[in-house]
Amino acid sequence: MIGAQNYVKAKFMEFSSRSQGRLTAAIETFIIPEDGRRIVADAQVANVVAKLPGTNPNDPRIIIVSGHLDSRNKDVMDATGSSPGANDDGSGVALVLELARILSQTELPATLVFVVFTGEEQGLKGATYLADKAKEMSWKIEAVLNNDIVGNSNSSETNISNNTVMRVFSETIPLAEDERGATIRRSINSDNDSPSRQLARYIKEVGERYVDHMEVKLIYRNDRFLRGGDQTPFMKNGFTAVRMSEMNENFIHQHENVRVENGVQYGDLPEFMDFEYLRKVAAVNLVSAASLAHAPGMPQEVRIDVRGLSNTTSLTWKAPIHGKAKGYYVLMRETSSSMWEKKFYTEQSSITLPYSKDNYFFAVQSIGESGAESLAVLPTPLSR
Ligand SMILES: [Zn+2]
Repeated sequence: MIGAQNYVKAKFMEFSSRSQGRLTAAIETFIIPEDGRRIVADAQVANVVAKLPGTNPNDPRIIIVSGHLDSRNKDVMDATGSSPGANDDGSGVALVLELARILSQTELPATLVFVVFTGEEQGLKGATYLADKAKEMSWKIEAVLNNDIVGNSNSSETNISNNTVMRVFSETIPLAEDERGATIRRSINSDNDSPSRQLARYIKEVGERYVDHMEVKLIYRNDRFLRGGDQTPFMKNGFTAVRMSEMNENFIHQHENVRVENGVQYGDLPEFMDFEYLRKVAAVNLVSAASLAHAPGMPQEVRIDVRGLSNTTSLTWKAPIHGKAKGYYVLMRETSSSMWEKKFYTEQSSITLPYSKDNYFFAVQSIGESGAESLAVLPTPLSR
């Protein structure tokens, strides 16, 4: 396993040498204790973490792009059989490396962290380790883009072949929601507006703007039905995180031992990858991460005025803490719509719109000099 970590670190270092050494990389080892389930004995394992510091030393914002290095066979406890893991999750690892290669040649104000986790199949061990550490060290994580199973476009059973659509999973009710958060959510009906959902909308908007022949489908779940991924420990720690995944999974090539049965080749082998599809998923990640890192931070103290009955809606906010906002987009959508539908540009920090707050949802995002948008912030009520 450490051989694989060394390979990934060497790739990061290769890109580093082409970017004046700004990109740094480390193998972070830690112990996962025996758990009586998927860990039979205490084991030393390792993530690989590369960091591209932002050009603004006063900007602590971090954007994480991740995938996982471990793979598995049908029996998750099979520690000796060959399990190539080309798609799950070699595809995510290749994507992380490619983004590190490209982005390390750019200059962005916020910090990008490229992570290759281990122990995903054994219970999200590497991601849990890093998410806990990030929480403990109060990292200002703006977004986690986790990529797991992103390189196949051909489904098993239903035989759907489509390389023009991908999924972004985002939590509906935040896993880390506390009682106060729940009270606010119930009172303003913001069930469809978790920060992770705003990130998912952002990825769809920016991804489809720049990447040809790719539809980004929002899935209103933190992961596939009753399944999980490395974004989950980040959500549990209160961070804004999503999972990117292919649309049509092929279960003949996932978690299956390599073998031929009735003339069918099983196993997660590279020959079943669709590299053009993977390129497009990587591009969606690239433009989303770069746009976020380029943009100013989110507007602060976004409030909606509820002091009187009115058919207009008044919003106020404050400038972002990090980066400079040239202006703001006030976003609006029908209560039954998935995506923001209208935007109003202003350079002020308040707006009154001729639309009733009873009939629409609103949010505000900061816009930088280059036009890059921050994540959207839903207003909370200003009652006096
Ligand atoms: Zn996976």
